[in-house]
Parts: sequence; C-alpha cells; structure tokens
Amino acid sequence: MSRLSESNLREEICRLGASFFERGLSFGSAGNISVRLDDGWLMTPTNVSLGRLDPARLSKLDASGRMISGDAPTKETFLHRAMYEKRPHTGAVVHLHSTHSVAVSVLADVDHADVLPPITAYYVMRVGRLPLVPYHPPGDLALAEAVRKLASKHHALLLANHGPVVAGNSLDAAANAIEELEETAKLFLLLRGSKLRALTDEQVAALKPA
Ligand SMILES: [Zn+2]
Repeated sequence: MSRLSESNLREEICRLGASFFERGLSFGSAGNISVRLDDGWLMTPTNVSLGRLDPARLSKLDASGRMISGDAPTKETFLHRAMYEKRPHTGAVVHLHSTHSVAVSVLADVDHADVLPPITAYYVMRVGRLPLVPYHPPGDLALAEAVRKLASKHHALLLANHGPVVAGNSLDAAANAIEELEETAKLFLLLRGSKLRALTDEQVAALKPA
C-alpha cells in the first residue's frame, strides 16, 4: 500500500508513463500501469498512449473492480487484478510490450520455469525467477487464469509472445523491476551465442530481494 495521496499517485502514474514512452519502453497505446488505493485501484485507460496520460482521466475502480470514474480502463485490467488478487502486498503493477522482453518471450528454446539466466546481482534482487506464461489471445480468460496460477509465487511474469507483467510494493518498485527485466533481456540477446558465466546457485542464494 502506498503512502502517497491519490492525487500524488495519479501524477506519478502519468510521469512514469511519459518516461516509459520517451525511452521507447512503450509505443502506440501499448502498456499499462495500475496502483492500489485504500478503496480500489487506479488504472491507465484503454487506447491511450502512456506518453499522453491525463491524471484526471485515469480509470478509478472500486474494491469490487467496478469503474467509478475516469475513462474506460485498459482491456488488460484482468492481468493487474490477477496479480493483486494473488499477491496481497502488491501496491502497483506495470505491464509493457517492451521490445527486448517481447523478443525473449518469443524464443523457442528458453526454460519456461525461469526464462532468463541470473547474469547480474540486481536482476536477481529485483526480478528473481521469471516464468513464461503460456500464450493465450489478448482478452482470453485463460490468460488471467494462467497468470493467477503463477502469481502467488512470482512477482514478475513473462507472457509468451506478448510481454512482461511485474508487481511491486510500490510504483517505484514495480517500475524498477520491469526496467531491470527489460535491460537484462537486452543483455541476454546481446550475449546469445556467447558462453555465459552466470551467477552460481550459491551466489544467487546469498542475494536478498531488493
Ligand atoms: Zn499486453
């Protein structure tokens, strides 16, 4: 739960959306951001660029998920709801179609239980194990079910042929983790074909979540 007021959270969502857009982590109307409020959630609206969010027009949902103000929420609201439902301490969820993470989500020969190797300490601390969620068409309820199945054990998931979904205790934590994931996907692709010296199981075990 965030200690920021609702109006501060609205501004933070818009600032973060613009930052994602300016850095090419979001394009068109792809990607969505949500935060938990004491009485429900704020979600980014459907069909709007993260680069042009308006704090006053963010979708506000009540605790039962009913829209109470703002524009209609993202059609991917179900992804966010699945994370909040299974991870009670989640304060924010970020979902992107960021290029390098999507590229990795399409590779045929990855470990579905943990897609990326532990190549840096910060990746291990902010993301940890990253399972691949089997492909389902956007809006298919089976996708929500597949996310729910993995969400209780993992705050970061990679949707096959789609993109990452990351939950955090705060908006900053979720944003830092999804950015670490995207950069690690980029490094992984850069290193493909090279022999890797990933962190050992002991080195991974010695790290604490950030
Ligand atoms: Zn998506």
